[in-house]
Amino acid sequence: GGENNEGGYAYYSEEMSRNKLDLLRIETGLMHAFEYDELLLYYQPKVDMHTGIVTGAEALVRWQHPERGLLLPGEFIPIAEETGLIVQLSDWVLNAVCTQARAWKEAGLPPVRIALNITAREFTRSLPDRVRAAMSRYQLDGEWLELEITESMLMHGTDRVIAIMEMVCNLGLTISLDDFGTGYSSLSYLKRFPINTLKIDRSFTMGIPEDTNDCAIASAIIGIAKQLRHKVIAEGVESEQQLQFLKDAGCDELQGYLFSPPVPAQKFHEMLMSGKRL
Ligand code: C2E
Ligand code: CA
Ligand code: CA
Ligand code: CA
Repeated sequence: GGENNEGGYAYYSEEMSRNKLDLLRIETGLMHAFEYDELLLYYQPKVDMHTGIVTGAEALVRWQHPERGLLLPGEFIPIAEETGLIVQLSDWVLNAVCTQARAWKEAGLPPVRIALNITAREFTRSLPDRVRAAMSRYQLDGEWLELEITESMLMHGTDRVIAIMEMVCNLGLTISLDDFGTGYSSLSYLKRFPINTLKIDRSFTMGIPEDTNDCAIASAIIGIAKQLRHKVIAEGVESEQQLQFLKDAGCDELQGYLFSPPVPAQKFHEMLMSGKRL
């Protein structure tokens, strides 16, 4: 090894300490974010394929950073997971969603399901209690709420997972299987879980209509959903061609920039009020 290698090493360790510093900065920043109310939720509508009516929304967290502007979850969720702050963040999200749903309820809106993204770490036996407590604190029915969990969570202790899901369903919530097709769940036991909806991952939607594999996978997922009597929604729908393909294939709902990006609560409220259709 010569000078080049040494130079490379120096550069590498500099990079590493910079990353550690970034991580620390984000960690302390995130602790402040709770204190100073810098987190907020955006809502992305879910739309009925046939009527164009908004059936619900997915709540997506944002961080209004004092120096860096509006941060997307990709910039802080992984760090929140690594540092354990995800527990506090998830609690914040649950309360924020319920606060908002309660406000919409008081404004006289009929119930729309607001979906929360649940991490593997949160999917424990205490989850149904947390949800129940929030529902009673905000006096909300389960028909205002939905959970989005990922396929990989089904793998860890089937009976335990089913028990948690059943408790959640008994509260009136629905459950969506997020990013479907990217995990490795065995189709044969999919039917054992009380799931309401399969959500086709954006990586497949993206390839429609050019990529024949993606088209085949999307069609197959829709077929599986029909067989198991689940609803099926496609995420990341951006074009009319994708819409047309998914419609012909029998998809029930869609979500994506073609209809609306994630928007602030007020804007979503206006969408609901205007009865806007796709
Ligand atoms: P996800 O659950 O798969 O959410 C969908 C992501 O795709 C969102 O990114 C959304 O803004 C984006 N998206 C929606 N429609 C389109 C489209 O037509 N085209 C493209 N290119 N993108 C689209 P976002 O908001 O950056 O969230 C990223 C991920 O962060 C989410 O992926 C989810 O896994 C996680 N996340 C977001 N909010 C929360 C939260 O409150 N709690 C937890 N645990 N995770 C969250
Ligand atoms: Ca999701
Ligand atoms: Ca997703
Ligand atoms: Ca996805």
